Amino acid sequence: MIELSDRLEKFILEIPKVELHLHLEGAIPLNTLFGFIQRQGDNKLIKNLKDLKKRLVYSNFVKFIKVWLWKNSFITEYEDFEELAYRVLQSLSQQNVKYVESFYSPRDFTFRNKKLSACGITESLIKGKKKAFDNFGIRSELIVDVVRDYGPRMGMNLIKELSGYLGRGLIGIGLGGSEKLFPAGFFTKVYQKARERGFRLTAHAGETDGAKSIWAALNELGAERIGHGLRAYEDPRLINFLQERQIPLEMCVVSNIKTRVCKSFKEHPVRDYFKDGLMVTINSDDPTMFNTSINNEYLILIQKFGFSLEEIRKINFNSIQASFMTDIEKGIMKETFHQEWEKLSSKYFKK
Ligand SMILES: [Zn+2]
Repeated sequence: MIELSDRLEKFILEIPKVELHLHLEGAIPLNTLFGFIQRQGDNKLIKNLKDLKKRLVYSNFVKFIKVWLWKNSFITEYEDFEELAYRVLQSLSQQNVKYVESFYSPRDFTFRNKKLSACGITESLIKGKKKAFDNFGIRSELIVDVVRDYGPRMGMNLIKELSGYLGRGLIGIGLGGSEKLFPAGFFTKVYQKARERGFRLTAHAGETDGAKSIWAALNELGAERIGHGLRAYEDPRLINFLQERQIPLEMCVVSNIKTRVCKSFKEHPVRDYFKDGLMVTINSDDPTMFNTSINNEYLILIQKFGFSLEEIRKINFNSIQASFMTDIEKGIMKETFHQEWEKLSSKYFKK
């Protein structure tokens, strides 16, 4: 009989999963990134994967953003984006992720690299994700990330440029970047326009700024989900509101520790939020930059926060419910997840 911890790990790996908060650029497999780095000629600082891993350590959120931009500077061709989407989805499919809603930030690239356009990047990612679907059966949708730091005008332009991809691989809009310096209120019109055009709406909030930033994402943007929502605890009224309305939180535990927005697992509110009946989902954010994976995030809930398997099951189903799929698609997915869960739990935990 294999050890309980081994069985648990196998079980978590094998259950079907949904990922709702993942940045494609931050999920790039390190060997793919290393290949892109090498293509630019000898890099004296990054001679092997070990050197690359050493670069992926951050003393604070600002340092993290610096490394983020440095890494992006090696993604230079349209083919790279196709490869990026394909490799990321391949890796997720190996963890039995069945459905993904992933962010991408085209302005990080078009801003510096004039030969790339947001449309071209979107088309390349769609090609990559189609190939991943054909080869691995993994379904995915794109969410374009409006980076706060580039301002609302650029956000508005992105909405106008990319609306034509809605229903063809693109499903929504997100808001990332410097939360404190560029409050959500700057982007009210961008979100209004996005909603009119049929984009689904999410926004990072309560990650590097407090509860008021979450209120702003809800009230001023009409966000349907909140990316992180870490600091909601600052305002009990907000906790009540999130609970009553069942507004999904796309929580990413390891990310919060690695960027130091939360000091330790002990201080992380994920357990309290779940107990308070908030709509918690678990996600990996930028897994290869944080040396994590969706699989690992699930395990951490069990090992560091004491989640029971029944609670894990609730989290697993929350992600289906919180997704931007149609109700019919959600119903079908819940049924298959339920059957798989029953099958795997009797395989690993019943005699
Ligand atoms: Zn994120």
